[in-house]
Amino acid sequence: MTSNANIVDVAIIGAGPAGAVAAALLRKAGRSVLVLERQHFPRFSIGESLLPQSMAYLEEAGMLHAVIEAGFQYKNGAHFVWQDKVSSFDFRDKHTAGWGTTYQVERAKFDELLVNCAAQQGADVRFGHTVQSMQTGDAPVLDVLDEADETGKGYQVHARFVLDASGFGRVLPRLLNLEAPTRMPTRAALFTHVRDGISPEAHDRNKITIATHPTLRDVWFWMIPLAGGRSSVGCVASAEFLDAPEADREGLLRRLIREEPTLARLIGDAPFLMPVRHIGGYAANVEHLHGPGYALLGNAGEFLDPVFSSGVTIALRSSHLAVQALERQFNGETVDWKSEYDVPLRKGINTFRAFVDRWYTGELQDIIYYPKQTATVRRYISAILAGYAWDETNPYVTDPVRRLETLHEVCQIY
Ligand code: FAD
Repeated sequence: MTSNANIVDVAIIGAGPAGAVAAALLRKAGRSVLVLERQHFPRFSIGESLLPQSMAYLEEAGMLHAVIEAGFQYKNGAHFVWQDKVSSFDFRDKHTAGWGTTYQVERAKFDELLVNCAAQQGADVRFGHTVQSMQTGDAPVLDVLDEADETGKGYQVHARFVLDASGFGRVLPRLLNLEAPTRMPTRAALFTHVRDGISPEAHDRNKITIATHPTLRDVWFWMIPLAGGRSSVGCVASAEFLDAPEADREGLLRRLIREEPTLARLIGDAPFLMPVRHIGGYAANVEHLHGPGYALLGNAGEFLDPVFSSGVTIALRSSHLAVQALERQFNGETVDWKSEYDVPLRKGINTFRAFVDRWYTGELQDIIYYPKQTATVRRYISAILAGYAWDETNPYVTDPVRRLETLHEVCQIY
C-alpha cells in the first residue's frame, strides 16, 4: 500500500545544496516535495568556497538570511600565487552586476542549514532513506530503502517528477545508463583541515588562495580560510601523482604544502585537524540532463574540476533552471527540456570548461599573472571567477575559447 505521504509532486534524490534549494523553490511555488537523503546530516562534504553568483539563488530560495546569520567566513575574491607572482581578484570589481561577496563555508554546517530551511518551508526531508531504483515515465516511481525499517522491504514513492540531486552518488546516471565520457583527464585531490593560526594582518582571509606548484604547473593547491581559525587545504594533481597508500597520504600532503612557498609560510607546520582525505576521478558527464519524468541537478549531471570553485554555483543554477521549467510544465505548458534546461545550464558549464582547460595548459595562468592586463579584461575575468558564467554581455561567456586564445597570444607578445 502506498501512503499519501509517498505521493508527491516532486521527489528529490539527495539533500545537498542542489536538492535543498530545488526543494525550497518548489515549496515556494506550492508544490509538495519529498527529499530522500541516504546519509544523516551534518555530514562532511568537500566544496567549501562559494562564488558570489550563488547568493542570488540562496536569496531566491529564502535561505540567504540564515546563511548570513550563520557566521561563515566572509569571502570577496581570490589570490592566485605562483613562484614570486601574485594576482588578486576582488569579486566586487567585476563586469556583471550582482553579488560580489559570499562565504567560505564548512559544508557539513552549510548543507545542514540549507536543508533545514527547505524543511521549514514545508519539504518532507527523510534522512537514512536511500533511493535504489526508478521507473521513468509520466508518473515516475522510486524504490526507497529506509535504514530504520528492519524488514528491509523498502517502499515506493510516486511522483509527478523526479529531480536527481545525488551528487557524486550519480544515482540516475548509473541506474539508467546515462553516463557519457568526460573530456577531463583523471585527476585527484588530497585534502584536510588545519588549525591555521593566520592573523588577518598576515594574510587576507577573505579570499581563497589558489597556488600553483613552483615547478609543476598542473599541480595546484587550495587554501580556504574558514571561520574559527581553521583552513581547508588541498592539493590537486593527476591521479598518479597523488597515488599513495592511505598511511602515507598525510606525509605526502605535508611535503607538497612545504614545496609551495606561500603555503609553507602560512601553514607549513599547522596541525592537521582531520585525517587526510583522497578523492579521485570526480569529473563526470551525461548525454542528457533530462529524460522522461526526471532531470539531473548539480553533480549528478556534469562535474568538471574544482579549480574555480564552480560546483555549488552550477548546482544552484541547475536547481533554479529546473524548477522554472518544471513550473511551466506543471502549469500545462509544453516544455522542451533540451532547449529550456540542458542547453542553458551547459552554457555556463562550457564557459568554466574553457577556463579549466586553459588553466591546466598554463595559458590561463599566463593570462592571470600578465602584469599589463587592462582593467576591462580583468573585470570580465573577475565576473566569471565570481560565477557569472551565464552573462552573455561578457564576451568571455559568449565566445570563451576564441577570446582566451587571443588574449593568451597578447600576453605572449608583450
Ligand atoms: P552533493 O552535495 O554531493 O549532495 C548529494 C547528496 O545526495 C549527498 O548528501 C548524498 O548522500 C545523497 N545521495 C547520494 N546517493 C543517494 C541515494 N541513492 N539516495 C539518497 N541520497 C543519495 N564546489 C564549490 O562550489 N566550491 C569548492 O571550493 C569546491 N571544491 C571542490 C573540491 C574537490 C576536490 C571536489 C571533488 C569538488 C569540489 N567542489 C567545489 C564541488 C562540490 O563538491 C560539488 O559541486 C557540490 O557539492 C555539488 O552539490 P550537489 O548538491 O550536486 O551534491
